[in-house]
Amino acid sequence: KTSKEFYIFQSVDKALIILGNTLYKNDIEIIVDVSKEDKLFGLKEEYTQVLISIISNAIYALKEKKSKTIKIISKKLNNKVVLSIEDNADGIKEEIISKIFEPYFTTKHQFEGTGLGLYISKSIIENSMNGSLNVENTKDGAKFSIII
Ligand code: ADP
Ligand code: MG
Repeated sequence: KTSKEFYIFQSVDKALIILGNTLYKNDIEIIVDVSKEDKLFGLKEEYTQVLISIISNAIYALKEKKSKTIKIISKKLNNKVVLSIEDNADGIKEEIISKIFEPYFTTKHQFEGTGLGLYISKSIIENSMNGSLNVENTKDGAKFSIII
């Protein structure tokens, strides 16, 4: 696999183009505040895949909601970049939040999810890009943070 320098906004744009039709059909408002300057060195396509996984989960979580918003925000933290993806669905129940990164853990029906998305995402970010992938509940929903 080839590591290279890339702009985070390009990965975000790519993920949103790939998911564009689904976001549109589900009437989801997307708020993006990503600096044009923030860049990373690492696996660009894999990083993009992580964004697609996390945003897809957010889309699923928002399915039955009235107001549907996904916020994607980048921030500098010392010499790292934090990209957060935040939804306003129901958040993640305390009894399962410690399990969501385990392989095959899913709350979805068969064929809707394999429970591998977050496991693979965490592995890409932490084992292949030397970063961290974390989750927390906010007052509105779930917030995933990728720190590299
Ligand atoms: P899958 O999507 O196949 O279920 P994932 O590894 O992507 O597997 O996610 C694991 C579980 O984490 C999901 O089944 C769901 O219960 C929970 N989850 C992930 N993202 C969210 C979210 N944005 N809001 C609520 N629950 C979530
Ligand atoms: Mg998933």
